[in-house]
Amino acid sequence: MRITVVGTGYVGLVTGACFADLGHEAICVDVVAEKVEKLRGGQIPIHEPGLDEVVLRGLEAGRLKFTTDLGEGVRTSQFVFICVPTPPAEDGSADLSHVQQAAVDIAKHVGDYKVIVNKSTVPIGSSNVVERIVRERLPAQIEFDIASNPEFLREGSAVFDFMHPDRVVIGTHSERAAGMLTDLYRPLGAPLIVTDPATAEMIKYASNAFLATKISFVNAIANICDGVGADVKEVALGMGYDARIGFEFLKPGPGFGGSCLPKDCRALISVADGHGYDFGLLRGVLAVNDEQHRVITGKVERLVGGLAGRTIGVWGLAFKPNTDDVRDSPALAVIHDLLARGAKVRAYDPAVDPGRTFEGIERAPGAVDAVDGADALLLLTEWNEFRWLDFARVRDAMARPIVVDARNFLDPHLLRQLGFTYEGVGR
Ligand code: NAD
Repeated sequence: MRITVVGTGYVGLVTGACFADLGHEAICVDVVAEKVEKLRGGQIPIHEPGLDEVVLRGLEAGRLKFTTDLGEGVRTSQFVFICVPTPPAEDGSADLSHVQQAAVDIAKHVGDYKVIVNKSTVPIGSSNVVERIVRERLPAQIEFDIASNPEFLREGSAVFDFMHPDRVVIGTHSERAAGMLTDLYRPLGAPLIVTDPATAEMIKYASNAFLATKISFVNAIANICDGVGADVKEVALGMGYDARIGFEFLKPGPGFGGSCLPKDCRALISVADGHGYDFGLLRGVLAVNDEQHRVITGKVERLVGGLAGRTIGVWGLAFKPNTDDVRDSPALAVIHDLLARGAKVRAYDPAVDPGRTFEGIERAPGAVDAVDGADALLLLTEWNEFRWLDFARVRDAMARPIVVDARNFLDPHLLRQLGFTYEGVGR
């Protein structure tokens, strides 16, 4: 098959590279010429495990191409995947302008039958919008179909997730498009859910809203555990063995973040509002999430005895490990709260570009440098390299041996033995 992918971000680049790896020809299109140039030379703009190998394999085999020329891809492809951003608008709804622009641009080059597949996360009903845009611009005799094919990959394991999805959702009114997409995805061996576009779009929002709900739920339970002296890790374990609940997403922390969960929750609330339903439950999920940043800051403040003028050494800026993505990172939200309360912050992250500046944050070249002379260590992203550090050295570098482990990642017994005051979340 020949596939054009519009947008070479986390989703588009992984989609194009993985389809090429599966033996198809993939043409990845982006509006940012500099990014395309780098990708042509095999330079990957994001930190994503395994992605460089897949991209290089595709380039070497000649099955993966990068271009700014959308027409080059669309004219010769059977599938056109839209993988452009859907950022939040001011009112929380999803801004569809990139998707709409992509649809306008695609329509200019459609000369024969295509399946136009939307992989961006979009409000329910957006497939109709894309269909209308393309239809209005094409002569009636040119056939095309629209499908919604939401993406569920996780940053940090995006290539694995694409190749081993829990399920593939295909939403279309066209049997022809459903058949072609089913053939495309069948080799992955995942359950295929073929449904209508609105249902497919809702599956994506409902899934992300549910995951966010689990996180806020366990954060709320963790905060109560802090009060009553229970251990949330064991509570989550005890809950997780119940097959109706499961273990995933029951890890307390500084709140959820990243480019998807917060924006998708807000967008679903906005969709609900638009249909006269007040999604109070999901508003609560977001409120708990916002409050969780302050819960973490409050722990640091209490342990160091006021934040004004204190130096806090922070480990982790990315919104989760194995990615350099800081979009809506809870680490940054917590740090902003620390700064607002007068603290100085020196931060280290293994993957976030050391040359990148963040207002008010001093960057450190290593984990121990970050805590040098610090009044407390605050772990915000659970990178593996933090687990087995020489904590005696860490202790000796610090002005005061205080650790707030916002991910419950470190070993409290070891740290207490070494003389640290240790506090996690909910235990
Ligand atoms: P991103 O910001 O990383 O990448 C988007 C890319 O699209 C950028 O390179 C941008 O230059 C390009 N672009 C924008 N408009 C374009 C146009 N008209 N033509 C060609 N290229 C264009 O975004 P992302 O994280 O890959 O997310 C894309 C979509 O997928 C969003 O709707 C997001 O919600 C959804 N999604 C993201 C993830 C994730 O983990 N990042 C997971 C599932 C779904």
